[in-house]
Amino acid sequence: MHCPDCHSTKLVKNGFNALKKQLYRCKECGRQFVLNPAKGPISDDKKRLIDRLLLERISLAGIARVVGVSESWLQTYVNEKYAQTPREAQVKKDPRTAQDRV
Ligand SMILES: [Zn+2]
Repeated sequence: MHCPDCHSTKLVKNGFNALKKQLYRCKECGRQFVLNPAKGPISDDKKRLIDRLLLERISLAGIARVVGVSESWLQTYVNEKYAQTPREAQVKKDPRTAQDRV
C-alpha cells in the first residue's frame, strides 16, 4: 500500500468518500486518494454511477476521485461514450428561427 504519486508508504486514514470507500492521505506529499484494488474491468455499477455523475457536470478529476478510477481510464471512457452518442443537438438547430430573432 503506497501513495500513487510519490510511492511513500506513510499513509493515514482520512475518512470516507461518497461511496463509503476508505480515503487515505499521504503524509509525504499530502495527496488524498482511495485505494483502487480493482485492477480489472470497471463494473457496470460503477459505469452507471459515472454516467450519472457526468450529468452533474462534475469535473473528470472529481469523478475519478469519488468513484475510485484513474483519470486516464475515465478520460478514455468518456471519449468512447461521446463517440457513440448521436449529435442530436446539431440536428435540432433551425437556421430560420435564428434569423427571425435578429
Ligand atoms: Zn505521496
